[in-house]
Amino acid sequence: MNRTFPAESQLRREICAAGRTLRELGYLPAAAGNLSVRLGDGRILATPSGVPKGELSPRKLILLQADGTPARSRTRGPRRSDSLRHVSSEIAMHLRIYALRPEVRAVCHAHPPVATGFAVAGRALDTAVLGEVAILLGAVPLAPYAAPGTQELPDSIAPFVTRANAVLLANHGVVAFGEDLRTAVQRMEIVEHCARVILVAELAGGAKLLTREQVRALVASRERYGLPPLPADAVPWVVAEDSAGKR
Ligand SMILES: [Zn+2]
Repeated sequence: MNRTFPAESQLRREICAAGRTLRELGYLPAAAGNLSVRLGDGRILATPSGVPKGELSPRKLILLQADGTPARSRTRGPRRSDSLRHVSSEIAMHLRIYALRPEVRAVCHAHPPVATGFAVAGRALDTAVLGEVAILLGAVPLAPYAAPGTQELPDSIAPFVTRANAVLLANHGVVAFGEDLRTAVQRMEIVEHCARVILVAELAGGAKLLTREQVRALVASRERYGLPPLPADAVPWVVAEDSAGKR
């Protein structure tokens, strides 16, 4: 096993803490949403379905093989909870992301209300309005509607997974991912922050978008922060020059 990855026991605690954080932020009403991490050996540790994510305990989490079949914990021995009976059908979306992005180690799916409102309105969060979002996250595309729990859900996000770090799910919610759980959760928070700012800007008279050159400079500055370059086919921003044709 790769020693650079945190131990399974630590990741179990981190998922529970992230669930509480997202629940307190109001992103996970009732038993909504799901979190997962990829262990160093490729197994997936995921939240169970039907449990409020503020009430998780490390033992309630589920271990899966990369293909979604049940796996056994090597640190704790087999548990009855490690059963497909409790796996959220939305985990198929997580497995697709892990398959398409080898460097991704954590996936976070939630229903933050303002970003979900944009997803319900059929609007991507791709207007260039905030420098920090251009640097840290990138444009957030909108995947077409797919019923939760169907194979159409992972299929709907697949075209965007290698081109973005978070995706809006039409009439549903948001999925964000990153090289660790902290990054995936922070990206979820940035998505919701961005949605709130755009909503307020529209109420305040309309957002003034950044120019193409301003966005280019922001994206180029990722290197200064030690961030890897964005993919060449990253989802493009709508900038000042082309906003008139967009809306
Ligand atoms: Zn959902």
